[in-house]
Amino acid sequence: MRNVCDAPGRVLILLLGIVLLPLAATQAADDREPERLAMVTEQIVARGVTDPLTLAAMRAVPRHRFVPAGQAAFAYADRPLPIGHGQTISQPFIVAYMTEIIQPGPGKRILEIGTGSGYQAAILAATGAEVYSIEIIPALAEAAAESLRQFGAARVRSKAGDGYYGWAEHAPFDAIIVTAAAEFVPPPLIEQLKDAGLMVIPVGSPFFVQSLMLVQKRGATTTSANLMPVRFVPFRRGE
Ligand code: SAH
Repeated sequence: MRNVCDAPGRVLILLLGIVLLPLAATQAADDREPERLAMVTEQIVARGVTDPLTLAAMRAVPRHRFVPAGQAAFAYADRPLPIGHGQTISQPFIVAYMTEIIQPGPGKRILEIGTGSGYQAAILAATGAEVYSIEIIPALAEAAAESLRQFGAARVRSKAGDGYYGWAEHAPFDAIIVTAAAEFVPPPLIEQLKDAGLMVIPVGSPFFVQSLMLVQKRGATTTSANLMPVRFVPFRRGE
């Protein structure tokens, strides 16, 4: 008799669990919202980023879900964080600045080199852009694909590979964002940029201060402007 009575009770608890657990997960993501909003006001708006799509994306994407569990407490701090394999997720301001400069938005097709945690790709996708992202370290590529899937960033396609060659199958791109420091701008990336397209890329020697460059393609010529000194992890080459 006891067992008969308990069974519906257990079913009820199970059903409640099925309904409430996803709610709890959503709630957990939102617990960090006040920190995220403060991050945008104090670190990003205060330093001059004004593009509404960029700011909305930075307010919406849960950065703490893209960093390793051990770093989650520091996710909204004003600095880069380690993401494993000797790589880093950029400081929030740099992510916002690089996003604004390439003018993402609905209908734009964007290539990212250096998926890392997947956070920058999620920010670009949150502006409404269609995003293609390449990561050279397979373990990071896999983890990022999983974070992006959990976050529901359906507009991101990612793969493991050497981003030096771009992603010809999906070219040309309205914009290209490179998040590792290259010694020179890889020619295949310039080829895969649309006419009047924009590329943002840190250029310089690894382990030193590099220059964040804005490269613009106009027909057969490209122009580049030096935006600011930055420090990124090195652009690596496949074997
Ligand atoms: N955009 C990332 C930042 C990652 S750091 C984020 O939001 O988290 C830069 C990443 O570039 C590293 O993960 C590194 O492995 C990757 N990388 C370096 N050289 C590369 C190459 N040739 N092709 C693709 N990815 C590369």
